[in-house]
Amino acid sequence: MDLVTVRTVRTPSHRDELALEPGERPLAGGTWLFSEEQPGLTGLVDLTTLGWPDVERSPCTLTIAATCTIAALLRLAPDDDWRAWPLVEQCANALLASFKVWNAATVGGNVAVGLPAGAMTALLCTLDAVAVVWTPSGGSRRLPVAELVRGVRTLDLGPGEVIRAFEVPTAALRATTGYRRVALSPHGRSGALVTARWDASGFVLVVTAATPRPLVFRSTTVPSAAELDAAMAAHDDWYDDPHGSPDWRRAVSTRFAHELRDDAASAGGAS
Ligand SMILES: Cc1cc2nc3c(=O)[nH]c(=O)nc-3n(C[C@H](O)[C@H](O)[C@H](O)COP(=O)(O)OP(=O)(O)OC[C@H]3O[C@@H](n4cnc5c(N)ncnc54)[C@H](O)[C@@H]3O)c2cc1C
Repeated sequence: MDLVTVRTVRTPSHRDELALEPGERPLAGGTWLFSEEQPGLTGLVDLTTLGWPDVERSPCTLTIAATCTIAALLRLAPDDDWRAWPLVEQCANALLASFKVWNAATVGGNVAVGLPAGAMTALLCTLDAVAVVWTPSGGSRRLPVAELVRGVRTLDLGPGEVIRAFEVPTAALRATTGYRRVALSPHGRSGALVTARWDASGFVLVVTAATPRPLVFRSTTVPSAAELDAAMAAHDDWYDDPHGSPDWRRAVSTRFAHELRDDAASAGGAS
C-alpha cells in the first residue's frame, strides 16, 4: 500500500549517514512496512544500500547480515557438517509467504517486526544466534536473539538502534535439529512452531507462534518427559489471536515438545 505520510526516502552508503531522524524508520525488504498503515512515519532509511554482505563465514561463526533476504539464505551452500541446515528451509516454509516474498523479505526485518509467527526468529533462537545491534552513538552491542524479541511487536531496541547482523555459532550448525508446525488451515499462519536442537552438549527447545515471545527451554541433557511437562506447564503466557486459542496452542506445543524430546532421546543426544 502507499504510505502517504512518508516524505523522504534516504539511501545511505555509509554508517555515518544512517542516523535516524524523528519519524524515520529503517526500510529492509518492505514486505511488512508497506502492508499496513504506519502512523507517524515520515521517512524511510533504506538499509539495503549499505551493501552489507549477506553472510560472512569464519571458523567459529556464520554471520548473517540483517539485510540478507530469506531467498539468499536459502541459496547458501552449507558446510558438509552443518546438520542443522535443513532447519533454514523448514523455517522459511513456516512463513505464510511464497518464494516471491522470500526474494524481498529479510532475516533482520522478520526479527524486527516481532510477530509471534516470525520463523526467522525461531530459526535464530534455535541456533543460539546473537544479534549485533548498532547504537546511534556509533557503537554496537550484542544480545541473544531470544532476548531481543520481548513480545508482540516489541523488541529490546532503543531509539535509533538498528540490527546489523546475527552471529550463529558454527557449533550449533553441526547439531541435529527438529521441527514441528501446525496451522488452523492448510495455508494459514503458524499457530505453533516448535523447534529443537541437540548434540552432546545439550538440548534446546524453542516455542514460537504459540507464545507472544520465544519460549526457550534449555538443558544439558535430554530432559525426561516429566521435566519437559513441568517446564511447559510452568509457562502461562500463550498467544490468543484468530490463528489459535491459548489452550489449543499450549496443547499442540506440549505435544510437539514431547515428540522432539523423544527424537532426541532415541538419537542418544546429550544423554
Ligand atoms: C504474504 C505475506 C506473508 C507473510 N507471512 C509472515 C509470517 O508468516 N510470519 C511473519 O513473521 N511475517 C510474515 N510476513 C511479514 C513480513 O513479510 C516478514 O516478517 C518479513 O520477513 C519482514 O522483512 P522485511 O525485510 O520485508 O521487513 P520490512 O517490512 O522492511 O521492515 C519490517 C519492520 O522492521 C524494521 N526493520 C527492518 N530491518 C531492520 C533492522 N535491520 N533493524 C531494525 N529494524 C528493522 C522496519 O523499520 C519495520 O518496522 C508476511 C508478509 C507477506 C506479504
